[in-house]
Amino acid sequence: MPGSLGLVVEGTRHAGDIDGFEWYCFACGALVHRVEVALTNIVSDLPPLFAAFQADRDARTCRECGALHPGKESPPGWVRL
Ligand SMILES: [Zn+2]
Repeated sequence: MPGSLGLVVEGTRHAGDIDGFEWYCFACGALVHRVEVALTNIVSDLPPLFAAFQADRDARTCRECGALHPGKESPPGWVRL
């Protein structure tokens, strides 16, 4: 989000390490989707991963409450910094 700050803390990486990416439901907080990949380059490997989630309506649908995760966009009423 423009104007916000993020903090990433990483341990020492080893070849073949698996990274997990999870999306959570804005409505109920349940895990909506998880992807595990062996990243080699975050600049080239991450955008397709996020694009696939954003394009997959089924993957963005919460199994707990049925809410549709907005993908890249913030849900209506979400905090704006
Ligand atoms: Zn939900």
